[in-house]
Amino acid sequence: MKKHNFSAGPCILPQEVMQKAAEAVVELDGSGLSLIEISHRSSAFVEIMEKARSLALEHLGLSDKGYTALFLQGGASQQFLNVAYNLLEDKAGYVNTGTWSLKAIKEAKIFGEIVEVASSQESNFNYIPKGYTIPQGLDYLHLTSNNTIFGTQIKEFQKTDSTLVCDMSSDIFSRQLDFSQFDLIYAGAQKNMGPAGTTLVVIKDGVLGKVSRKIPSMLDYQVHIGKDSMFNTPPVFPVYVSMLTMQWLKDIGGISAIEEINDKKASLIYSEIDLNPLFSGFAAKEDRSNMNATFNLTDATLKETFDQMCKEANINGINGHRSVGGYRASMYNAMTLESVGVLVDVMSELERKA
Ligand code: PMP
Repeated sequence: MKKHNFSAGPCILPQEVMQKAAEAVVELDGSGLSLIEISHRSSAFVEIMEKARSLALEHLGLSDKGYTALFLQGGASQQFLNVAYNLLEDKAGYVNTGTWSLKAIKEAKIFGEIVEVASSQESNFNYIPKGYTIPQGLDYLHLTSNNTIFGTQIKEFQKTDSTLVCDMSSDIFSRQLDFSQFDLIYAGAQKNMGPAGTTLVVIKDGVLGKVSRKIPSMLDYQVHIGKDSMFNTPPVFPVYVSMLTMQWLKDIGGISAIEEINDKKASLIYSEIDLNPLFSGFAAKEDRSNMNATFNLTDATLKETFDQMCKEANINGINGHRSVGGYRASMYNAMTLESVGVLVDVMSELERKA
């Protein structure tokens, strides 16, 4: 029986996507060949890549708005480096909202001065800093829209004249935003998009070409743009599955439709966390992530019982990250409201039992 998979990533994907992906590994669209044995230069794969690139822009409302979508390798972590390599000449600003922001800062420091514009590190990243002053003269400002480990999410993006870069690895395609406020968006596939192995990078025209350093080809966004995301052999399977997932999202009504469901899932779990005295939420209420709900037991002696009940209910992957402890229920796009209901039922059953 399929488990209710609350894993933080790699994570749940739509069942029908898994099915189609499995079929394509055996034989792609009746071609007599597997997806993973055909040339990436074949018309069949070029079509898949082009469809993936155009679906990404379509979902973000950025088609014909002067943006290019790329599917690169090396994970979101590679983009921590690439962003700075391609955009940082003197000074960049970073809002430090957690482990992933810190890792992005570490890479960027190799290339220039980094201003930590705001941080919530002093309280173990349980909130999103707000109302901070963004200094003038930054090459760019870097944000992390959703903090996977801590369960916080930026709800309002501060207006800025700075070039705006955002790591959306764990909430891409989950909610409607004005995506045209961003100059560069990146997101590892392995949450809302597909399997690990590719990273979506969306770049606005005119953002590149401003740094004086030589950029190695594989790290140079302009090279990848010039080659239509096919500078070298792309990760064909992750790109294909990402394309299928984006098509699935389009078929069910796009970001606006999934956002409604994501809101319902988040309300369901957070109201249980707030009403049930056996649980307490980790993140500040106004900054709670709709993707990753972080919470603790108020009575640690119940851990074994709760874990056993979760296991019996076929719940997988709710252990919190080691830097936060407790529990983390990740509720990405493919997770159903019913699955969240199963977890909430276990939580309320624990209250009845205790
Ligand atoms: N940014 C965020 C917000 C993440 O959640 C993750 C991974 N969980 C990363 C970056 C790093 O991604 P990767 O492992 O693909 O390098």
